[in-house]
Amino acid sequence: MQEKGTISIHTENIFPIIKKFLYSDHEIFLRELVSNAVDASQKMKRLAVLGEYKGDLGEVRVEVSVNKKKKTITISDRGIGMTAEEIKKYINQIAFSGATEFVEKFKDAGDAKEIIGKFGLGFYSAFMVADNVEIDTLSYQEGAEPARWICDGSTEFEITEGTRKERGTTITLHVNKDSVEFLEESRIQNVLTKYAKFLPIEVKFGEKDKQVEDGEDKEGKKKYKTVKEDNIINNTTPLWTKSPNDLTDEDYLNFYKELYPFSEEPLFWIHLNVDYPFELTGILYFPKLKKDFEVQKNKIQLYSRQVFITDETKDVVPEFLMLLHGVIDSPDIPLNVSRSYLQSDGNVKKINTYISKKVADKLSELFKKERESYESKWEDIGLFVKYGMISDEKFYDKAKDFVLVKNTAGKYFTMKEYEAHIEANQVDKDNNKVWLYATNVAKQDSFISDAVDKGYDVIVLDTPIDSHFINHMETKMENTQIKRVDADNIDKLVDKDEKRELVINDEQKEAVKGVFDKAINNKTYTVAIEPLAPSDAPVSVTMPEFMRRMKDMQATGGGGFNMFGSMPDNYNVTVNGNHKLVDKIIKATEEGDKEGLAKQAFDLALLSQGLLEGKALTDFIKRSTAILGE
Ligand code: ADP
Ligand code: MG
Repeated sequence: MQEKGTISIHTENIFPIIKKFLYSDHEIFLRELVSNAVDASQKMKRLAVLGEYKGDLGEVRVEVSVNKKKKTITISDRGIGMTAEEIKKYINQIAFSGATEFVEKFKDAGDAKEIIGKFGLGFYSAFMVADNVEIDTLSYQEGAEPARWICDGSTEFEITEGTRKERGTTITLHVNKDSVEFLEESRIQNVLTKYAKFLPIEVKFGEKDKQVEDGEDKEGKKKYKTVKEDNIINNTTPLWTKSPNDLTDEDYLNFYKELYPFSEEPLFWIHLNVDYPFELTGILYFPKLKKDFEVQKNKIQLYSRQVFITDETKDVVPEFLMLLHGVIDSPDIPLNVSRSYLQSDGNVKKINTYISKKVADKLSELFKKERESYESKWEDIGLFVKYGMISDEKFYDKAKDFVLVKNTAGKYFTMKEYEAHIEANQVDKDNNKVWLYATNVAKQDSFISDAVDKGYDVIVLDTPIDSHFINHMETKMENTQIKRVDADNIDKLVDKDEKRELVINDEQKEAVKGVFDKAINNKTYTVAIEPLAPSDAPVSVTMPEFMRRMKDMQATGGGGFNMFGSMPDNYNVTVNGNHKLVDKIIKATEEGDKEGLAKQAFDLALLSQGLLEGKALTDFIKRSTAILGE
């Protein structure tokens, strides 16, 4: 048997589902109804421009009001209005969007891009907060009759002749008992400020107080009085809708202040503007980061045709750019759908790629044109750049030419410049270039000075992202090793295979090692006697590069490293076999004197690394003091 047919949907069943699940946030009803009012107003203006409407436009604005006593909210516009027939068509048929039809109809007569509506579902969000919804409307069309529609949220409605005299539409919501919060003016003011702040048609919500000058008092001081003025919610022409060519730096800075009144001035900004293969405009600002960058997330606001959608832009903006501030406006981002859908959406992916490319281009341009200013901002932008390089291959390819490293003398280099800088000298016996870095210039000073004495250069990598950055760069750079300056004795770090002779014999060497082992008496320290220059430090304590990186990764939660458990600290103790101290130890007659010398030299090495504390530190100071008195 074979049969074909259409699955039937009973509206009575589906209606409550739409009401309940369409939007998780009830306040959205206001966004939807105000957007509809703005759409109707925009259409009206467009018809006038096209000559389809020859009458007087009047003041085209949207008004929202609340009546606490009557428990109503009204949204009223001077847009195109609807005839009874149109109500039946656009309102009664769910998901039949008049907006889409309007755009279709006028698509050849210039674009109708300013229309917000798209899905034909928004109006019904009113029933999330209202028991009864009324529409009072009069179409702009000549000879149109006013119409009135009432619905209690069931699938039954009533249309009657209306009384409205003025072109446009008023929606009245009889607020239900669970939604009385929306009868508070402050609540409505907040919701409007959130969603309607940049809508293209003026939105008025009651009146507000304003201080104006009122002559002078007897002492000649200015007097002020309070007057009422319209409370206009929005700036109808936000900066991102304007052409970058018409804008000054001051405009951008002022707009930043409008968005984030309490923030410090941004470093620079990017004006985004594409219309193919997707539409997107916006302005992204690079903020001053400082150390507390965690709190600054979620500062990018997402708009669709000037309607605020969300400030959770996680899926739209590449992760490494989440710390940027600003606005993105795109009608091509699906709005009323779930997260997982957003992630797999083709447009969203393209937008992601575009933004990342734009940011790379801007940084590259700044670097090339204003290197000095770029360097001065590096402390703030370095984090974006490094994070971007680690997480985004395409960004890496561009950023490798403008990522900077700073050496301990405060000079900045690009990667290429730095390679050239160290090429002649900082190369080991296997022809590997060795990059030396410090994470704490003050603490690692003795090691830095050892390196500098050899004519080597040391860069400073002291931000939280740097350990990851180093790992990443090593996989990218050929024949290059990156080593922390205190990971070993400098002659080992840059091993040129210059054999130096040990002045003591093997037997003496073993004996000295034994003395140190006993004096230190701790298995986490591995002692080795090395032939160093007599002028080098007698003893140095270092943690091998490999060991320290494992620990760093573990500390920052790098994947897979937990199998090591919590790793103990393991250190290498290098004793300079050619130092006078060793001679002194050999010559000492008493076992106690030998160990005392070794212990003192070892503690001194620990001290220089900031590793000596507590009782060990107190004992060291006591012993040193005693020596001074001898
Ligand atoms: P959408 O806005 O996505 O088209 P809605 O459910 O919000 O869907 O609205 C459905 C339709 O009802 C609109 O497309 C429009 O034709 C009509 N409409 C809604 N509100 C108004 C209004 N204030 N003035 C004129 N028409 C309106
Ligand atoms: Mg709508």
